Amino acid sequence: MVRLRGVHKTFGTHEVLRGIDLDLPAGSVTVILGPSGSGKSTLLRTINHLEKVDRGTVVVDGQLIGYRQVGDRLYELGERLILRQRADIGFVFQNFNLFPHLTALENVAEAPVATRRLTRAQARERALALLDRVGLADRAGAYPRQLSGGQQQRVAIARALALEPKLILFDEPTSALDPELVGEVLDVLRDLARAGTTMVVVTHEIGFAREAADTVVFLDAGRVVEQGPPGAVLDHPAHERTRAFLSKVL
Ligand code: ATP
Ligand code: MG
Repeated sequence: MVRLRGVHKTFGTHEVLRGIDLDLPAGSVTVILGPSGSGKSTLLRTINHLEKVDRGTVVVDGQLIGYRQVGDRLYELGERLILRQRADIGFVFQNFNLFPHLTALENVAEAPVATRRLTRAQARERALALLDRVGLADRAGAYPRQLSGGQQQRVAIARALALEPKLILFDEPTSALDPELVGEVLDVLRDLARAGTTMVVVTHEIGFAREAADTVVFLDAGRVVEQGPPGAVLDHPAHERTRAFLSKVL
């Protein structure tokens, strides 16, 4: 479903991604771990071309992301085509990023109407079903400021699902939450995982990684240091840097 080859990204003189290769099968859950500044968010953002790569390729569901290849040259796609690709890739941010002036229902219904995939009535119907799925059917009319952080993040997840994406990227979806609200968001992530959603989750929630991940990827200084099933990477890390990191977060 997702294939990265030789992905490099530099900001100024700082090489943040130093040649990332990853293969994530359809239906798989991948957890990305790594120290602050190791490039986790940048990596996630290259997958939907929120961040332009300097070198390398990102392919999602057979489509080269952000570029058209002609011979051996790559030409960046126009904005409309990039937005169309992005519509198939959900993104859930640390800080929810809901529209403050829209209700929960309107936040979820907005994208399918804006992209003209559904009529307003169909989008509202789907939004209600999705809010129900994340346990918020009774808060459909609430504005973000009237919701707890955990509820806002669940609305954001419902919004990401509204376009029926092929893949959902989560960037530390629970790290802005009070500890007692983390569980309700992780429950929704576990449900999605069980339903076979292809997901990439940057998180320090090791318990979630252990239960829900098919693959754990440990990133350090812009490189994949190791990857494998959670039992291997978390319990028997092969590299000293992974061990040192885990000893701090476990
Ligand atoms: P954290 O755990 O703190 O979220 P991260 O692993 O997600 O860290 P990134 O946000 O990917 O790390 O950042 C990697 C490095 O790239 C950092 O040194 C950061 O300062 C730098 N960086 C990220 N975005 C930009 C940008 N737009 N311009 C310049 N530097 C950036
Ligand atoms: Mg980050």
